[in-house]
Amino acid sequence: MKKMGKLIIFSAPSGAGKTTLVRALFERVDGLDFSVSATTRKPRNGEVHGREYFFLDEEVFKAHIQNGDFVEYEEVYPGTFYGTLKREVESRLSIGRHLVFDIDVMGGLKVKDFFGEQALSMFIMPPNLDTLRERLQGRGTETDASLQKRVDKARWEMSYAERFDTIVINDHLETAIMEVCSKVKEFLSK
Ligand code: 5GP
Repeated sequence: MKKMGKLIIFSAPSGAGKTTLVRALFERVDGLDFSVSATTRKPRNGEVHGREYFFLDEEVFKAHIQNGDFVEYEEVYPGTFYGTLKREVESRLSIGRHLVFDIDVMGGLKVKDFFGEQALSMFIMPPNLDTLRERLQGRGTETDASLQKRVDKARWEMSYAERFDTIVINDHLETAIMEVCSKVKEFLSK
């Protein structure tokens, strides 16, 4: 029988450095595919339908919910939905591809629940809330109110960290990258 692919799930509060770590993983470990989620948000500059996301109208997204097509979906921001389509994930796993998920905390836990031992769930932890606040401020995209909201949400999300298979503290970036890569390689070799 053909070998099934595995799932590697990354979840983190925003500002923890998850996207940077996921990018570095792709540069350093071969044989991984990015899991393309569906979303109702509009594409940003340079984003391509089917590559970063499947960009769907809200009615279409809701029809997928009704049909039970999602492994999980979340209203990550008010009015904006994100979800993992079963069909996409299963078709790639069935041809032996390993899939990397960049997904919010609740979604990450649900995907792990659904796939069990076939999945490795990683929580990317900022060193502390002050550092997280500084990183978010550094982006220059937040107002005081939105910054506080993100920090409050981060505190809540961090309370779920223990439910993940593994926690990587992103204090020193290169150390965190090496830790992520070695954990992924070990998981794939099992
Ligand atoms: P962005 O709009 O910046 O690409 O992503 C916003 C957030 O949605 C990120 O935290 C990302 O991890 C999360 N996200 C992306 N895809 C999914 C998904 O399929 N399900 C869930 N629950 N969250 C997702």
